[in-house]
Amino acid sequence: MLENTILAGFLFLALLLSTPLLQAAGKDKAEKGETFSLATDDTFIRIGVKDNQPGIFHLGARGAKWNWVADSTGIPLIDHVLIRGERKNVKWAPADIEQEVKDGRKITLHFKSDLPGLELSSIWQSRPGPGPVEHHILVTNKTSDEIHIPMQKTFDVSFKAPKGSSLENWWVEKGNGTPSLIGTHREIMYDGYYFYKPSTPYCQSPGMDMIPWLSILDRTHMQGFYMGIEFSGQICFNISADGDPLILGIKAGLDDTFVEYRSKIPPAGTYDTPVCFIGCFSGDVDDGSNLLHRFVENHLRPQVPDPRYPLIVNNSWGSGMAVDEKLARKMIDDAASLGIEIFHVDAGWYKGVGHWHPNPDKFPNGLGPIADYTHEKGMLFGLWIGWTQGGNPPEGSEKLAVSNPEMRAWFPYDFPEDWRPWDFTGETVCLGCDKARDWCLNDLRRVVKQYKLDLLEHDQRMIVEVCPRDSHRHLDNPADISYHATKGYYSVYDRLREENPKLIFEDCVNGGRMVDFGVAKRAHYICFTDTYNPLSNRRGFYDASFPLPPSMCESYVMNDPGPTIDTFRAMLRSGMMGWCTIMCDTSAWSKEQHEAAWRQFEIYKSWIRPLINQGNLYHITKRPDGIDWDGIQYFDSSNGKGIVFAFRATTSETEHIFKLKGLSPKKTYHLWFEDKTSPEIVEKGSKLMSRGFSVRLKAPETSELVYIEEK
Ligand SMILES: [Zn+2]
Repeated sequence: MLENTILAGFLFLALLLSTPLLQAAGKDKAEKGETFSLATDDTFIRIGVKDNQPGIFHLGARGAKWNWVADSTGIPLIDHVLIRGERKNVKWAPADIEQEVKDGRKITLHFKSDLPGLELSSIWQSRPGPGPVEHHILVTNKTSDEIHIPMQKTFDVSFKAPKGSSLENWWVEKGNGTPSLIGTHREIMYDGYYFYKPSTPYCQSPGMDMIPWLSILDRTHMQGFYMGIEFSGQICFNISADGDPLILGIKAGLDDTFVEYRSKIPPAGTYDTPVCFIGCFSGDVDDGSNLLHRFVENHLRPQVPDPRYPLIVNNSWGSGMAVDEKLARKMIDDAASLGIEIFHVDAGWYKGVGHWHPNPDKFPNGLGPIADYTHEKGMLFGLWIGWTQGGNPPEGSEKLAVSNPEMRAWFPYDFPEDWRPWDFTGETVCLGCDKARDWCLNDLRRVVKQYKLDLLEHDQRMIVEVCPRDSHRHLDNPADISYHATKGYYSVYDRLREENPKLIFEDCVNGGRMVDFGVAKRAHYICFTDTYNPLSNRRGFYDASFPLPPSMCESYVMNDPGPTIDTFRAMLRSGMMGWCTIMCDTSAWSKEQHEAAWRQFEIYKSWIRPLINQGNLYHITKRPDGIDWDGIQYFDSSNGKGIVFAFRATTSETEHIFKLKGLSPKKTYHLWFEDKTSPEIVEKGSKLMSRGFSVRLKAPETSELVYIEEK
């Protein structure tokens, strides 16, 4: 401990010495050959130029001894470009270095090539508060020709494990249609270990994609680092581990594992690699993730326009496509009586796919009066739209139609005249086409204004990966197609948010298929699975809440009440650990169910919500398997409050011991049980963490909420 304190002091001194202009505002040029430090509350990194490349000279947790960069590591830069199909080798030379004190600290290492004329910037950013340091690379074409560039990874680095340490690689799957049996992976890293995992814009099957985050834990010294990618196209991590102690080769960025990458840059144009981040922690994986959660909320997630966040929603999808004015009004009345805060009309309200106007048979008075009625009842109004989906409605400029001669080339392929969309899915337009993005943005502007939206949910595929059109911004390889379609999607949403700063955005791409830190910069909350029973909600939340803040992890709660009021409560609580969207016609609930639901929503607002926003999250059991007990704990050390969500699945065991985390060992805590299944407990933090406490539940598939408060 003493050693750590001394080292922390040393690191801080080193930070000051190596950054003499730390206090200066605005931009400053720096000398070549210097190194520069960036630090958040918990991560310390020293960068500079190494062998005509960006280099990392130190990476570690603030106050910790270990430097993950053994000596130093460079990030290889592209060594050639293609001009009119001809290979031109590139030799980079360091140019100037800029530092800027703005939203934390930004260091830009500039490089240039004279022939061909290119500039490259390696941009590093540390921001105030906890969390990682971000990096991306910008390439500028200074020639008078269009150039084609090969893959430029954002990170391609070499790290070293401490001697005698045992490393684990933790990563999680996207919840996809249904969370798989594994979900959270914990892999021992050994000499010869290799890891490749992609994240695509539309995960095709369970287990195929990762949420682009991983956490490397040194179990021996209880420390580690985590990385993430802020992008929604085809991206991946590649890791190799060799030797003893292990040397880790880590690459992060766009995915060229199977298909050679090329992208084009017009004269004077720029190309930007996906932003990647890296952060360090002391403790276990939850300790690292709790730092990352606050970083995502503070710096990535769009600003939260409502202090009550995260809000409780009732969504019409429990009744499927059958939504109409009568049902909507009935649901609004009941939702308001339950204290629900948003009423959300899901798919089924429109004339047809691509024709986003209210269906007059269902909403003869349009959606305006429904929005007004929702507002009168004190709730916000939300709407579903699959805005990238083209249909085949009769032609007209207000309809996105694959058969419209003006629009045909916006889609990856031509479609025959008799092609028809499904009820809520059509063909995805390529947002690498400027005209397509302009049309979508304009239609969304109309939808948001005309239907008085407070919340906009997008569904279906947003980003294409296959598109042979040569009139779009991309070349014909999947990573570049998805790269430009992603940029198009971002430009539409960034503009729409700028124009509607209070609008809340929800990401649902067929339930958990596009979950990454790029969409986390555009959507306030993300649906992590398309299966909504209590077990799937708990599994999906368990996985997604490692990389994502729980406030952004959305559970849809389907009506699966079970035989008793206890199983009904367990259904609600399984979806109340993060963002809670009820997907039930609550007007069909019994009086007893109404009373139980009203009480759960009150607890959510008064006790759970502040913990979701400010508390630390701990995965205190193994992942839910549908048999055993499972649980999640929150604790906020700033006010000494916490909660345990305890679930008994089908097991015959009527009692389970939960060991708590994150408490102060010497402090005393008062624990009490919402359903009064056990008497109150007063106990020292040390005992609650080492021996734990018991929860007893008589019936399977039931639950308990255990409040924690420091005495
Ligand atoms: Zn395209």
